Amino acid sequence: MPDVPTTTTFLAEARADAGLLRYKRFERWIEGALALIFPPRCAGCGRVDTHWCPRCQREIDAVPFVRSLHHFESLSACAATGIHEFRLQDAVHALKYEHAVAVAEPLAHRLARCVYEMGWEFDLIAPVPLHEERLRSRGYNQAEKLATALGDILSIPCHPYALRRIRNTSSQVGLNHIQRQENVADAFVAQEEGLQGLRLLLIDDVYTTGATMDACARAAQAAGTRAVYALTVTAARA
Ligand SMILES: [Zn+2]
Repeated sequence: MPDVPTTTTFLAEARADAGLLRYKRFERWIEGALALIFPPRCAGCGRVDTHWCPRCQREIDAVPFVRSLHHFESLSACAATGIHEFRLQDAVHALKYEHAVAVAEPLAHRLARCVYEMGWEFDLIAPVPLHEERLRSRGYNQAEKLATALGDILSIPCHPYALRRIRNTSSQVGLNHIQRQENVADAFVAQEEGLQGLRLLLIDDVYTTGATMDACARAAQAAGTRAVYALTVTAARA
């Protein structure tokens, strides 16, 4: 027997939809009211009434791409939209630590331009995942915000949960290359189905030694991807 929805189900769904609509309207009203009291400020220069201003955008657009980062066998190619300094660093910092999620979109436009110039071809986009505990404390995964916005710009599907971080690794700050590799080894798993034969683009905010990207790419390969590209907004100066 096919699963035919009853009148009761329709009514319940309609009520749920109406509830959601009311909630969305309320959410927009609250957002509008908050914006009046606390107008947004540019995460780069502090100018009022915008999350990211055209002048800061022009500054980051002038930064040259970092076209070839450290080579890993697990990665077909790896690039960043610039060195981790000046305005790009401000933007990443705001996105990651100051809840400035609106900055993900202008940064994603930059990621899109970089992908286009690199000539990479891929079928799916996935962010480098955060461990659940880190996700709960921050409230969002900055890499996911970037990856989702990039997927929308390129019209390529983004799968936020293609990879999972199963071990809550300690911070990579202050560790050398070997220590970083050991710190993230086996920290990631890819979902078992749906990645077979695909070309995957991994997205993260900052590239330091590539240990995280390498560990993610290995997990994706174990799930059958045929190519993995890696792109970050910034790369630490080598
Ligand atoms: Zn600005």
